[in-house]
Amino acid sequence: MTAQLIDGNALARQIRADVRARTTALKARGIEPTLAIILVGDDPASQIYVKHKVNDSSETGLNARLERYPAAMAENDLLARIHALNADTAVHGILVQLPLPPQMDSHKVIEAIAPAKDVDGFHVSNAGALMVGQRGFWPCTPHGCLKMLDSIGYPLRGKHAVVIGRSNIVGKPMAMMLLARSATVTLCHSATRDLAALTAQADVIVAAVGKRNLLTAEMVKPGAVVIDVGMNRNDAGKLCGDVDFEGVKNVAGWITPVPGGVGPMTRAMLLVNTIEATEAAAR
Ligand code: NAD
Repeated sequence: MTAQLIDGNALARQIRADVRARTTALKARGIEPTLAIILVGDDPASQIYVKHKVNDSSETGLNARLERYPAAMAENDLLARIHALNADTAVHGILVQLPLPPQMDSHKVIEAIAPAKDVDGFHVSNAGALMVGQRGFWPCTPHGCLKMLDSIGYPLRGKHAVVIGRSNIVGKPMAMMLLARSATVTLCHSATRDLAALTAQADVIVAAVGKRNLLTAEMVKPGAVVIDVGMNRNDAGKLCGDVDFEGVKNVAGWITPVPGGVGPMTRAMLLVNTIEATEAAAR
């Protein structure tokens, strides 16, 4: 292996320690940072994600309030609940676990969250703030990726970053964050022609597609930084990313593992956004 590993677990541990210290400071002022987590229905993956979010919050001293509702919940009832949480000054962050049941319009539901409590950073106000370079909550996954690049002191200015995947929660905000750091960004997606020709020129590659072995060694320039956002299962049923880790690690300069890379950083950045929402409300 020539690539150095960017250890998401270790970095997330440092970030959680910082959140814990900030939580302690707020509590000393009588403020209890509180995150409301709403889970509608019983999607198995969502239940696991929500459990992690509750545990991560408790572990850093944040108060997580989990609200569970049946899959048949009416959209209006959920909207009413969000409005009540928006008005509740004891709640600093609101997270609605996606996906929602089919009778609900996720866009409408997310837009109902007060932007100042939108710790997932999915509200159009927060997406717009990122776009125009104003302060706002950044989505946790790309923000975690940026922190990983920062952790190795990687100078993004003038570098060519290729982001693969253009979803609203990962690829697009990632591209914006890299642009804000003066990287030259190529945003690729399923209609991109000759992906390999583009990635082969990249100094930084962020793969966020959800396809195993999407990025192989021949597609990577020697020394490039490779950030693997993908979450897939291999033939043995084990978690793996979009990157052929075994091949790419011999070419890249830096690489993130799966598991133990972007996943723990995504979880840590939710805590950061929640503590920032609390600090902003306490100002
Ligand atoms: P998505 O399905 O919304 O978007 C996938 C994107 O990949 C689309 O823009 C599509 O155009 C593009 N794409 C599909 N096939 C392609 C191809 N052959 N070449 C180039 N682009 C292609 O997915 P998402 O929600 O952005 O998630 C992407 C992956 O990241 C998934 O595996 C997801 O599980 C994972 N993810 C991980 C974390 C984490 O914390 N580690 C967080 C969010 C998402």
